[in-house]
Amino acid sequence: MRLPLVSSDDPVLREQAVPVEDRASIKALATDMLQTMRLEGGLGLAAPQIGKSIRVFVTGVGGTEHVFVNPQIEWYSETIVPYEEGCLSLPRLRGVVERPDRVRLRYLSLEGAPQRIEASELLARVIQHEHDHLEGILFPDRMKDIRTLITLTQEEWDSRFENKE
Ligand code: ZN
Repeated sequence: MRLPLVSSDDPVLREQAVPVEDRASIKALATDMLQTMRLEGGLGLAAPQIGKSIRVFVTGVGGTEHVFVNPQIEWYSETIVPYEEGCLSLPRLRGVVERPDRVRLRYLSLEGAPQRIEASELLARVIQHEHDHLEGILFPDRMKDIRTLITLTQEEWDSRFENKE
């Protein structure tokens, strides 16, 4: 089921999300979040973006999809790289954000098993962007110079299926 995205000014996007305690309740939600991410043409989607202030996000980078429950970034690389980001919650906006190029993430699978993943490049980028959503942080907050935020036309936005997180 495709879930509606909350609007860009919804306060839920600014809340600190709470850990998931009842995993059984989020299996269907995770399936719907993955479907919504695909239909929106996104690389990732965090629960606050669909109005749920819980610590869950999904990613779909390079043909591989992941569901991350109660994720914690436990390591960042020292190498910082700039990259132009967009966000499904902030339609038509794009901006360059500098982030570490690798991270290691601890999380639970949908079955409740503790997992670790070390990610690089685009997946590392998306993981950090989605993790920020769980903290109420949006990508413009991370920009060094907010004046470099770009507004695309609707046509440009619709035709770009990459870098929407
Ligand atoms: Zn986003």
